[in-house]
Amino acid sequence: MRKPIIAGNWKMYKNQAEALQFVEAVKNNIPSASKVESVICAPAVYLQSLVVATKGTDLEVGAQNMHYEVEGAFTGEISPSQLADIVVKYVVLGHSERREYFNETDEAVNKKAHAAFAHGLTPIICCGETLEEREAGQTVSKVSSQITAAIAGLTPEQVTSVVVAYEPIWAIGTGKTATAQDANETCGEIRAAIGEAVNDYVAQAVRIQYGGSVKPANVVELLSMEHIDGALVGGASLDAASYLKLLEAG
Ligand code: 13P
Repeated sequence: MRKPIIAGNWKMYKNQAEALQFVEAVKNNIPSASKVESVICAPAVYLQSLVVATKGTDLEVGAQNMHYEVEGAFTGEISPSQLADIVVKYVVLGHSERREYFNETDEAVNKKAHAAFAHGLTPIICCGETLEEREAGQTVSKVSSQITAAIAGLTPEQVTSVVVAYEPIWAIGTGKTATAQDANETCGEIRAAIGEAVNDYVAQAVRIQYGGSVKPANVVELLSMEHIDGALVGGASLDAASYLKLLEAG
């Protein structure tokens, strides 16, 4: 059985007071980690305060990006060992916004995935097609190639604990969600691609989230689908009451 994982991606939103108020509002109502994994991926500057504020709760903290090198002259970057040092558990890799605006490539995502495991971090690896690619019938080839490139060279055991996030780019922040059936079909294709790249056992174990305009009103249907094991949520994760509703669906 794959345990659902609901991750909020706050992107570049909230100030320190708002981040801490959010944790205060949700921390006593987080469902048990034995039922659903609850994660908030926060802006880097607030990670440490959130790790402290969530200590002893079932709310986990994740970063939205990192460099793949352990240290070095990389002004403005944050290393995997620095995230591990402050006890961050998850890291989002290859989000479409990073691929589009910060030139993140499949090769960099793969290096980051290796670096994450080397430092005890669990990567949430994103993939997704543009509207043009979807209309040209290229959805499956695009997401399969992004994911197989991202996991290249990882051990089967490592791939088992990767979280994949399928986020069609045209559905992010637009209010347009893929239908649950379409999202499920693509998540199933991603699972099949992992099966081919690694093996069926790993493919059945790996968790695949859907992301793109997920909200309390559509999360239950999405999570009821066979291949959808959670959600990566932007806008609807910013409000504490809305985030708790998402977790209830897990
Ligand atoms: P929205 O939920 O705001 O569409 O964002 C999705 C996303 O990009 C999460 O990583």
